[in-house]
Formats: sequence, structure tokens, C-alpha cells
Amino acid sequence: MRKKIVAGNWKMNKLYSEAVELVDEITIALKDDTKSDEIVKVLIPSFPYLRKVARHSHGIPNLFTGAQNCAYEEAGAYTGEVSAGMIKSLGGTYVIIGHSERRSYFHETNEELKRKVNIVLGQSLTPIFCIGESHEKRHAKEHFAVVEKQISDSLFHLIAADFKKVVLAYEPVWAIGTGLTATSQQAQEMHLFIRTLVEKKYGKEVATSLSILYGGSCNSKNATELFACPDVDGGLIGGASLTAKDFVTIIHSFPS
Ligand code: PEP
Repeated sequence: MRKKIVAGNWKMNKLYSEAVELVDEITIALKDDTKSDEIVKVLIPSFPYLRKVARHSHGIPNLFTGAQNCAYEEAGAYTGEVSAGMIKSLGGTYVIIGHSERRSYFHETNEELKRKVNIVLGQSLTPIFCIGESHEKRHAKEHFAVVEKQISDSLFHLIAADFKKVVLAYEPVWAIGTGLTATSQQAQEMHLFIRTLVEKKYGKEVATSLSILYGGSCNSKNATELFACPDVDGGLIGGASLTAKDFVTIIHSFPS
């Protein structure tokens, strides 16, 4: 059975004391919550808070810490960058790669993202690799082609054993932070397309074990419907992960 995952991308939000408060509220809520023990939960704060969040998360079943980005080089003279090794040394386990905000504001290319994937896997960390089309591309009915290219350019060089370590997050750009969630039909259709693509490349076993998350205005009200889709294995949550109550409600939104 593939993993069910809910990951909270805090982006560039929260001052230090607020981040500590949020992780405390989440861990208190999850402490005796045995029904969500099997669900993988990932808290993804800004780099400076990674160590603190990792320490506070310790001891809660399947609660991990992640980073929002990493450098595509291992080490060296790259002022301002943070390496995958550093993330690991702070207690991070997951790394978001290719978030649409990185692709658009920081002009990250599929080729750079491929290098990041290699670096992250080289440190035995788990990439949460983001893909998704813009509003224009969906309107032009090119959404499947965009997603296929993002996946094949940055991931299809991997051998099957490494591809199996990747988590995918389908995040239509038009749905991120806009309140415009994809319908459950749109999400399921794209997730099935991705799984079929992966099956063609790596075979059924790899495709079946791949966790594909949905992201884009997923919240405590719509998560139940999205998570009920057979190929949606959880969510990458932005805005709604900044409130403990909403984040925990989303964790509780999988069908029983
Ligand atoms: C995200 O940034 O990954 C995201 C899904 O944001 P939001 O939930 O706020 O749309």
C-alpha cells in the first residue's frame, strides 16, 4: 500500500516564536491521535526553523520535517544557498523541489531541478517533486503535455529503485494560493495520467507504490472530497497548514 501523506508548506511565513507555537499546537493535537499514526505528516518551515521544528516533532509517529528548497550543488562557494547535506544534518527528511513559486520567481529550470533531485536522493532524503500547469496551458488544453515534460525532463533519468523514493505533488499553478481548487475530477484525471505515465516508464509495481499529492487551495473543507479520489494520496498544503486546527482536520480527511 502506498503512503498517505499530508505535508504543510509554511513558505516564508511565521516569525520564530510563531513557528514554535504552531509546531507545539500541531504536536499536542497529534500526540494521542492514534488514528493518524499511519499517515505521514511533514512540517516544512523556513530554513532557520528546521532544527527547532524537527526537535519538537520528535516522538510523534510518522511526523517529519522538510525543507522548501535546496541547492543543486553539494557544497562550496554558493553564497546564500543551503545544501541537502545541511538539511539532513538539521533533522530534515523531505525536500520540496520545483515548487511553482521557485519555477516562476526564481526561474528554476527542469535541468536545475533534475540536479536537485540527484543531490537530495544522494543524501537519502525524500524529494517532494512539484509539477503543474499554468492557467494559460490548461486553457490551451496543454496541461497533460506540460506535466509530462516536467516529469520526464527532471525525473525519468532515474533508475526505478531511485524513482521509487520520490513523492510527486500535482499543483496546478492557477490553484495555488488563489482559492480556486481543482475539482476532484480534475485532480483525479491528472493523477491517473501521471500514474499511467510512470507505469509506462517503470512498470506497474513502481506506479502503484508512488504517492501523488494534490496541492492548490486544499483546505479543511475540500480535503475530504479530494482525498477520496483513488489516485490522490494526500496533499501539499500551503495556506491551510499555517493553522494547527485546519492542518489537523486535513490529516483527518482520508476515507476510513
Ligand atoms: C503550495 O504552495 O504548495 C500550496 C498548495 O499553497 P496553497 O495551499 O496556499 O494553495
